[in-house]
Amino acid sequence: MALFWLFVIQWEEISGLDENFTPIRTYQVCQVMEPNQNNWLRTNWIEKGDAQRIFVELKFTLRDCNSLPGVVGTCKETFNLYYQETDVEVGRNIRESQYVKIDTIAADESFTQGDLGERKMKLNTEVRIIGPLSRRGFYLAFQDVGACIALVSVKVYYKKCWSIIENLATFPDTVTGSEFSSLVEVEGTCVSDAEEEADNSPKMHCSAEGEWLVPIGKCICKAGFHQKGDACEPCGRGFYKSSSQDLQCSRCPAHSYNDREGSWRCDCEDGYYRALSDPPSIACTRPPSAPQNLVYNINQTTVTLEWSPPADTGGRNDVTYRIICRRCSWEPEECVPCGGNVAFTPQQSGLTDTYITISELLAHANYTFEVEAVNGVSDLSRTQRLFAAVSIATSQICLSPNPSAMNNFHGSEVIKERVQEHSIQLSWQEPEQPNGVITEYEIKYYEKDQKDRIYSTVKSKSTSATVNNLKPSTAYVFQIRAFTAAGYGMFGPRLEVTTKEESSGQNPVIIIAVVAVAGTIILVFMVFGFIIGRRYALAVKFPGTKTYIDPETYEDPNRAVHQFAKELDASCIKIERVIGAGEFGEVCSGRLKLPGKRDVPVAIKTLKVGYTEKQRRDFLCEASIMGQFDHPNVVHLEGVVTRGKPVMIVIEYMENGSLDAFLRKHDGQFTVIQLVGMLRGIAAGMRYLSDMGYVHRDLAARNILVNSNLVCKVSDFGLSRVIDDDPEAVYTTTGGKIPVRWTATEAIQYRKFTSASDVWSYGIVMWEVVSYGERPYWDMSNQDVIKAIEEGYRLPAPMDCPPGLHQLMLDCWQKDRADRPKFDQIVGILDKMIRNPNTLKTPVGTTTRPISPLLDQSTPDFTSFRSVSEWLEAIKMERYKDNFTAAGYSSLESVARMTIEDVMSLGISLVGHQKKVMSSIQTMRAQMIHLHGTGVQV
Ligand code: AMP
Repeated sequence: MALFWLFVIQWEEISGLDENFTPIRTYQVCQVMEPNQNNWLRTNWIEKGDAQRIFVELKFTLRDCNSLPGVVGTCKETFNLYYQETDVEVGRNIRESQYVKIDTIAADESFTQGDLGERKMKLNTEVRIIGPLSRRGFYLAFQDVGACIALVSVKVYYKKCWSIIENLATFPDTVTGSEFSSLVEVEGTCVSDAEEEADNSPKMHCSAEGEWLVPIGKCICKAGFHQKGDACEPCGRGFYKSSSQDLQCSRCPAHSYNDREGSWRCDCEDGYYRALSDPPSIACTRPPSAPQNLVYNINQTTVTLEWSPPADTGGRNDVTYRIICRRCSWEPEECVPCGGNVAFTPQQSGLTDTYITISELLAHANYTFEVEAVNGVSDLSRTQRLFAAVSIATSQICLSPNPSAMNNFHGSEVIKERVQEHSIQLSWQEPEQPNGVITEYEIKYYEKDQKDRIYSTVKSKSTSATVNNLKPSTAYVFQIRAFTAAGYGMFGPRLEVTTKEESSGQNPVIIIAVVAVAGTIILVFMVFGFIIGRRYALAVKFPGTKTYIDPETYEDPNRAVHQFAKELDASCIKIERVIGAGEFGEVCSGRLKLPGKRDVPVAIKTLKVGYTEKQRRDFLCEASIMGQFDHPNVVHLEGVVTRGKPVMIVIEYMENGSLDAFLRKHDGQFTVIQLVGMLRGIAAGMRYLSDMGYVHRDLAARNILVNSNLVCKVSDFGLSRVIDDDPEAVYTTTGGKIPVRWTATEAIQYRKFTSASDVWSYGIVMWEVVSYGERPYWDMSNQDVIKAIEEGYRLPAPMDCPPGLHQLMLDCWQKDRADRPKFDQIVGILDKMIRNPNTLKTPVGTTTRPISPLLDQSTPDFTSFRSVSEWLEAIKMERYKDNFTAAGYSSLESVARMTIEDVMSLGISLVGHQKKVMSSIQTMRAQMIHLHGTGVQV
């Protein structure tokens, strides 16, 4: 924005030179000799447009009072920055009371004397933020109170998220929100030929820093279109995409084509069809050819037909058979449908087996039977029907294509003689009624589970045969028929035989080779392990999984540091300001400029002077650990400086500091999705660490850092003794210090720290996050916390906590560590919640903090009951009043000490009532613990 200066008293517009001696115009004032200066300079009216949060960048020089002789008492080294919001331009007169002060501005650098005595001008840059702004525009004003200032430039700007396309949705230019922490939710519009995914409309959030965050939902290309970059393009000719759910266009399946672009399906070639239920992805098919080898057997007025499947199934596996039965007159041959009196077993159509029995035919009648194979597209086809037919006269044989019906195998037994992996030997007896001399037998067989039922045949001149080239462990179906001069007879019954399993000891050579290779690997590992000894003591692993190596296993800790951390040149690091106090020295912010790279903001942990060798080792240990990790949700180590002083660890800069303090500062300001997004990040970082075999032991919101994009990263790595320096850690009876409120029971009780105990701590972090940095278990003492947890109590859902999140916390706090979810599952659950924000809705009525910290509001406050009977009435168990009195439980304190055995001994026999009473007693006990601190001795 261009600025025009309207109101000038004492301030002068002057030409000068900047640091590089380039001519510039400045506004200057230098009334340092006179006291009580009040000189104002004001901008013209600046229309704010859509902006709500305005940045003001000032460049100025300020004269050091010490360099001005004789000004003691009157010279100042600061000036004040003000603003005034108005809807329209106002007059030139400044009324100070209408201005709101933004800040007092001081210089980081002032005029200094150069080596040769000439004055050098040092330019200062300061940025201030104003907002939320509500009027149409504003003025900026500068108040000089007696300093020597030259205002060189004022840049006024606001930030916005630039229009982008993400997940095929367009998000327009969006001005950032009014608050530092506010995210502006923006709905995306699908690009052309894309549509919103069901229940997953695209959204993004514009952060105050002008960056797009937390993309949710997406658009997908419509049917007939596929994604290319940020757009949807039509499928090419010969390709199709049937649904928006499919990612890619596919080539037209067999026997189909299309000659248009952007098709959702392909058309069938002539003579090929698609059944109504066929998806567009399968080939077009055609009706099957006629069944083969149709034979019959007639017994007075009953005919049995048997056939083989068609040579061509039409490309489908839904072939069935239907029989058309016609009765024909002798001369001239005229046929009519058989009518309803004929019986078909199992049925006339829809047959899946290749045989049928037709009974109740008329005696001495002439019949024609057509056997037609049909499939899912037979009814769509207008081509000629293909069938196999026989004509039969009841009570006599005539016109049979297979005239040897007497060679009937039915009733003959087939024996399996020898079953091997690849062969089966069968034997049988000659049929009882051979129709002449049997010259040959045909053995037909097929794989039982094969869909297309492809038959093979073997011929034999004797009553036995061996069928070879079979697959091991496979069921085959065999049928045998005999051949005489009159032709083939009927096939005998089906015999199912399964070949033997392939024996594992089949190829001793392979086994020997495997054993030899495995032996060599073990030997190599042993020799390798022996040579490198301590150095890789924990690192023996198989390729593919990166494993954390405990730096303590290195004899020389310096080697560990240099194995995992880059040594940086101290001259690349510029320390700017102190941001915190670490255990070993100050933590500063600054910049790291590596040769050939952009400078990046960094946090620098320093080791205080006068350190001992042990302190140096412990300090660098964190770097040796951090340097092994590389994950977006684990704080990244830039490098170390060990060859200069001070010794430094340089880490990526996390602008918003530690998570607990950050959440407290922004209490209630985030959406649930944002909170879950943070939790997802932490879980992903922990999944990575646990996959590497690293157990954190001190996972807590205070040990998570947050950057300017609200990305959370796990930090604070160290060996167990580093935890000793956590102010939350206290000594426990098992020795060593433990952050009790964050630690799983088994870790407190017997120091069993595992990724499962990290999951417990993660549950506590979830609770800290959702409650905006509330202290877990509030002001309860550590002893009471341990006691309450032991008795089965768990933190209740924080205010506005979606039930699903609280359930996940409770799962993390399962007593048995095997029952807790793994980090991998936690990430999956949170991802699902983010994808379906509806699951994160809080049911009405849970939006207030619980009265008692350990309980939901719905739980009565047991400490307010005055007698045992009042309590029993409240839990609707008054029927047991007398039982309590008779057993001597007259006070609530005595009731609170009861165990389940005590409850049972009162004579409460119903399990449901026992549970209700016991759970109420436990709740009462917890409330007493919380209210009276010391609790009840059980
Ligand atoms: P630590 O010794 O790691 O506990 O650090 C002390 C404090 O310095 C922390 O509580 C943070 O506020 C701050 N700090 C540490 N590391 C960083 C970092 N990478 N970026 C920003 N602040 C940090």
